[in-house]
Amino acid sequence: MSHLAWASSAEGKGAERGLRRGAWYPVLETSDRFVVLDVNDIEVRFTRERLRFRAAPPSGWTVVQLSPEEATAEARAHGHPDTEGVRVYLVCPGCHSRYHLREVAQEARCEECGNTYPVHGATTA
Ligand SMILES: [Zn+2]
Repeated sequence: MSHLAWASSAEGKGAERGLRRGAWYPVLETSDRFVVLDVNDIEVRFTRERLRFRAAPPSGWTVVQLSPEEATAEARAHGHPDTEGVRVYLVCPGCHSRYHLREVAQEARCEECGNTYPVHGATTA
C-alpha cells in the first residue's frame, strides 16, 4: 500500500469533506480501514472505499465529466449556486484549479498557476 501515494475521490465521494472530483491529494497515512490525506494543507481522514489511488501525481489535466445530478450536487457541496451548468471541466495537476472546457485541446494553460499541461484523454472529435 505504501506505493499508493496519491488519492482522489471515487465517483465524487468525499466532496462534503473537501475533496474535489478529479483532483489528486497526497496520502499522509494509511491503516486497515482509513487513509489520511493532505487536503489543501488540512489532514482529513477517509475510509478506503471512498477513494481511488495511484503511485504518482498526474502530469496532465484530469478531464471530469459530470451528469446533471452530479453537477448540481457538486455545486451545492462547494457553495456555488446550483445552476452551475458547466459539466465538463479540467482539473489542474499543479494547483487543483478548474478550467471549464469549451473546446477540446491537446494542452491547456492554467490561469491560476500559469503552468501549461497536456490534457489527458483529450479526443479530437
Ligand atoms: Zn494550476
